[in-house]
Amino acid sequence: MGNTMNYSQRFLIKPGSRVRLSDIDPDFKDKHESKKDALKLIERNDLRLRELQELLYAEHKRSLLICLQAIDTGGKDGTIRHVLGAMNPQGCRVASFRQPTSLERDHDFLWRAYRDVPAKGEVTIFNRSHYEDVLVVRIHDLAPKDIWIKHYEQINNFEKNLSENNTHILKFFLHISKDEQLRRFKERLDDPSKYWKISNADYTERERFGDYMKAFEDMLSKCSTEHAPWFVIPANHKWFRNLAISQIMVEYLEGLHMTFPPPSVDIDQIRKKYHAAKKKA
Ligand code: AMP
Ligand code: MG
Repeated sequence: MGNTMNYSQRFLIKPGSRVRLSDIDPDFKDKHESKKDALKLIERNDLRLRELQELLYAEHKRSLLICLQAIDTGGKDGTIRHVLGAMNPQGCRVASFRQPTSLERDHDFLWRAYRDVPAKGEVTIFNRSHYEDVLVVRIHDLAPKDIWIKHYEQINNFEKNLSENNTHILKFFLHISKDEQLRRFKERLDDPSKYWKISNADYTERERFGDYMKAFEDMLSKCSTEHAPWFVIPANHKWFRNLAISQIMVEYLEGLHMTFPPPSVDIDQIRKKYHAAKKKA
């Protein structure tokens, strides 16, 4: 059944293709009417994700890097809660990309990304990522164009290098509409437990919504590669977003055909020791 969904193809940005976000429906929910309809599938994916992550950890051969990008309120935090919630915390990490510190600013923009890439057996989620350097940096002229324009190729080279060294990379762009963003702003205003998420910048950045979409389109068009694909996830419905991402992760990890490593000890010998110990007990 998982294969019939084939979300890895459906939401993939084909390397070399030109993305137009206005052609992609952020409201898409496949054949499901509601969260209730999809819940079984989501739960099944979560269980499978846990098994696959256990394999990755046990195998200790490769790592998985997940990059999340979205406009404000796009659902990065919720995605992280969901994906990480499904996995064993041992072996998973989140790295959040904020305004660079002065130390970070004194290095090239990829330095801080490199510092946080997953080690063998690990899964790391980038909450925002090195792509901020072709997004906020571009939109707010934080670096001149002749600098940020080079970042696309530098990012592709960086990711290629990682993938050739056994880091698997999946990148998810959470696609919400401008109306949905406004609804989510309202939700935050209506719920005191969400006040802490509100910032003035939300509204000034919203003014630049169109510029952000252009910058996202360039990022998706220039940097979706065989070795580090971008997926555009319809994300107006949070449950569909979770279904799609967990489904793509399961499809991808299953495709690696991982197996538990062979024992590093002679199991028959150890079994004898066990029986001897049991006799003495
Ligand atoms: P949040 O994810 O809500 O904690 O906000 C983090 C903020 O840091 C966002 O406004 C990002 O745009 C900003 N940010 C992330 N990376 C960079 C960067 N390289 N340069 C400038 N601002 C950044
Ligand atoms: Mg924010």
